[in-house]
Amino acid sequence: MSSPSSAAPAPGKPPASSTTSATVSVSPADAARASTRPDRLSSIAPTTSPHNDQSDEARSVLSTLNDDGSRRWIQPKLSEGRFLTRRRIVAYLLIALFVALPLIHVNGKPLIMLDVVARRFHLFGATFLPTDTLLLALLLVGTGLTIFWLTALFGRVWCGWACPQTVYMEFLYRPIERLFEGSPGRARKGWLQTSGAGKLLKYPIYLACSFALAHTFLAYFVSWDQLRHWVFGSPLDHPVGFGVVMLVTGAMMFDFSYFREQVCIVVCPYGRMQSVLLDRHSLIVRYDQKRGEPRGRKQGKPGGDLALPVLGTADRTGDCVDCHLCVTTCPTGIDIRNGLQMECVNCTQCIDACDAVMTKLGRPRGLIRYSSTAAMEGKPLSMLRPRVVLYPMLIALVFTLFTLVLLNTGVADVTVMRGLGPPFTMLEDGRVLNTVRVKIVNRTDAPAEFRIALSGLDGAEFKPLADPVLIKAGEMVTTPAQVLVSGSAFKRGHAEGQILISGPKNFSYTSTLSLMGPHTAAEPKETRP
Ligand code: SF4
Ligand code: SF4
Repeated sequence: MSSPSSAAPAPGKPPASSTTSATVSVSPADAARASTRPDRLSSIAPTTSPHNDQSDEARSVLSTLNDDGSRRWIQPKLSEGRFLTRRRIVAYLLIALFVALPLIHVNGKPLIMLDVVARRFHLFGATFLPTDTLLLALLLVGTGLTIFWLTALFGRVWCGWACPQTVYMEFLYRPIERLFEGSPGRARKGWLQTSGAGKLLKYPIYLACSFALAHTFLAYFVSWDQLRHWVFGSPLDHPVGFGVVMLVTGAMMFDFSYFREQVCIVVCPYGRMQSVLLDRHSLIVRYDQKRGEPRGRKQGKPGGDLALPVLGTADRTGDCVDCHLCVTTCPTGIDIRNGLQMECVNCTQCIDACDAVMTKLGRPRGLIRYSSTAAMEGKPLSMLRPRVVLYPMLIALVFTLFTLVLLNTGVADVTVMRGLGPPFTMLEDGRVLNTVRVKIVNRTDAPAEFRIALSGLDGAEFKPLADPVLIKAGEMVTTPAQVLVSGSAFKRGHAEGQILISGPKNFSYTSTLSLMGPHTAAEPKETRP
């Protein structure tokens, strides 16, 4: 596995600048170098900026591609600031929550668990079976609409603050990498960082984290008892389980040590839907172009201190000093000054980086800030827009339907079907044989007995394969049954009765049973002695 080399500011090499985000020091040399050098960072082509008329086609494809199509490794500088502090708190709380969720039980069931093996989904105390098509469809639609609504309001707040990919990458794997390899733009400290051994030694730590993460992930899909058995038992006792754990560990390792931001940029469909989910009033991370442009330091003081712009003078520049800190801190390698981009996960690192620069220069913070396209154009922020009103109405409707359907689900689901094979069979004694299948799903959390009976057909004989039918919790059993009816009971080839299924908690289900037979009743055959 190849190791990511520094891509900020120049991939494969430590940056020449001593600029750090913790103590921002923007030297004139740095600013000049950043604004004039022809490397790949300065070539990220703004589509709207007057500074970047030469559109860079490679950047217009992917921010993580070099001009020759090879991977541009991103090693973002860490930018300390108010948003990073808040994100850290949220991230570590979420990591604890991700671990705890499968362990928390409501009504004796895990709070969230998609038990694939047992084909049962537990969500907040309710159990869903694969037969709950309507419930699951309503749940999916409701969740989708909620995501649409939150995105319309707050942009990609999920991606930047709560997505497990971001949380684990930025607050677990990336800190480990910085500990072992050093941070871009900072002097390397200690043997691990200076000798370069950390580049290799970080992998065993990654592996241990991935192993632990794989178990956290699997706890959402297999029961905790099962997982404990996998952890403490010999792999030889459960080779399939062991294989699954190893596979997921490998996937985690691949993701967090190699694939990284590509998940957000290339794989995740959510980012690609932004253009339809966002509107001009959605809150997103924006660069204030009016305030920032024309970017660059004031001309005429080479080698001197960074000059502040003097309003009203001909050589006035905007507040952006083109230091590129917002670019080198970006985990997806984009330049926020180019406007809204699919790759932006709203991680707020560029806000912290730029705020530090502005503070250092004695200018107001917020050149990059949470804002909306409309607000950037001087229009008032509007929270009441058609989609923002329509989404909650639809969400309320869908979840009301969901609740009603959920409340109406009983102890069992019953389906009565015709048997396989010929529609009916004439017996020698003149009776007609029909076969039926009774499918019962036990929706309770305990094994239950169900009885099957027939009524409404005089002289009929009903022979289920099993009666009572014992069904385990959440399981489904299909019982075949034979119905023997006199041929005279059929009118125009049809006879009708009632099938009754009873079970625990006074469960009772009645269904009309249509039987097929001859159009004229067959005479009983004479039995010769
Ligand atoms: S927006 Fe801020 S951080 Fe980015 S280049 Fe301009 S001054 Fe530097
Ligand atoms: S542009 Fe800013 S908010 Fe968007 S991903 Fe990059 S650093 Fe994060």
